[in-house]
Amino acid sequence: MIDSHCHLDMKQFDADRDVCIRRAKDSGTEAMITIGTDLESSKEAIGLAKTYPYVYATAGIHPHSASTFTINTYDALKTLCSNDKVVAVGETGLDYHYDHSPRQIQREVFARHIELASEVTLPLVIHSREAKEDTLELIKKHDLKDAVLHCFSGDLHMADVLVAQGLYISFSGVVTFKKAQQLREVLQMVPDDLLMIETDAPYLAPLPFRGKRNEPSFLRYTAEVVAQVRGISLQDVIRITTCNAKRLFRIGDVASTGVITYKIRDSLYINVTNRCTNECAFCIRYKKDFVKGHNMRLVREPEAEEIIAAIGNPLIHKEVVFCGYGEPLIRLETVKDVARDVKARGGTVRVNTNGLGNLVHKRNILPELSGLVDHICISLNAQDAQTYERLCKPVFKGAYDGLLDFVKEARHYISVVTLTVVDTEGVDVNKCQAIASRLGVSFRVRHLDVVG
Ligand code: SF4
Repeated sequence: MIDSHCHLDMKQFDADRDVCIRRAKDSGTEAMITIGTDLESSKEAIGLAKTYPYVYATAGIHPHSASTFTINTYDALKTLCSNDKVVAVGETGLDYHYDHSPRQIQREVFARHIELASEVTLPLVIHSREAKEDTLELIKKHDLKDAVLHCFSGDLHMADVLVAQGLYISFSGVVTFKKAQQLREVLQMVPDDLLMIETDAPYLAPLPFRGKRNEPSFLRYTAEVVAQVRGISLQDVIRITTCNAKRLFRIGDVASTGVITYKIRDSLYINVTNRCTNECAFCIRYKKDFVKGHNMRLVREPEAEEIIAAIGNPLIHKEVVFCGYGEPLIRLETVKDVARDVKARGGTVRVNTNGLGNLVHKRNILPELSGLVDHICISLNAQDAQTYERLCKPVFKGAYDGLLDFVKEARHYISVVTLTVVDTEGVDVNKCQAIASRLGVSFRVRHLDVVG
């Protein structure tokens, strides 16, 4: 875990700062970003970052102190940013709840921080409280791309705009509070690759410590609620948010090439190929390299033996799923070899496919999967051929009819068949569900940009 936002320099830690930092490290917080709120606190943050290898600092002027920003402040911050352990500019932004500094000055100082971040090529840490319109306006005006909005407290619309802009959104212990239902709804929709978590310690302690001093070792309580809300495991949340914090703050190692196997919840997924016979408008592989904190961009297609070795013991997973960034059944022989091995060792096999395997191989491949595959999930993606052609751009003529024939055949050879659709514009989910009912198979709706 990485605590992407805490204030370790604050006086609330004077009595036991070292103990708190070490307790966080010992409890699995691999790094902490301690945030500067004025010149003095930025210097103290840098001092802490120099003392502890796993602590990093930022340099900035909090909107509360915006009116202290003088003609010399920009250069002073720039000098601080040249330190190796400074990983971001901020926190800056707008706070119209307390209005400790005049709003016009807050906006000007926010703009100066944006300018500084661009000049020193560091990401920006943004604070925004009850200042949605002006925050979004400044972000859009400067076309800000490299930033996190910390301790998000806005609404769904604000999150949508930030996501469209490609900015990270960080959630604090507030998501654990009983009355934070609206915030948890926002938390559900933020894409994995833009999600971060923080303590904002010493403030905003999560349940069950609400009202007490917060500290970085409490991050786990927030992570647990994030996992529940998003329907994934704690390990998934830790991996996703750690990967994102490393990418934003450019710290530590992030996998630069695709993995062969990757765990999500209690299933093990197999990354077989990046190739596909479709070019779906919503396909995640055109947008990003990472799925739930795993790099998916293979530089080379793995052989069956490599995949089998990477799987290890299949019995420790609920199922082994052929999925990845492309269409697994393009590599039919590899899938069969690996599935045969998994079945021989008592494992369960699922294949996620676009259902065009018979067109790829110019024969009915389903009898070959009999006994090797327990569950097949087929992407229907559209209610009719015209919509399918428009959304999925298949290389084959008559692809939609071929897909429906594939589903009909699959029922004879594989015990569980599921049709899936992505709830994207132009897809009539009810009509798709009716097709699944008519074919006698189960049906599942997937959400746009939510993978795994
Ligand atoms: S079928 Fe799947 S892998 Fe292929 S383009 Fe469509 S979404 Fe991407």
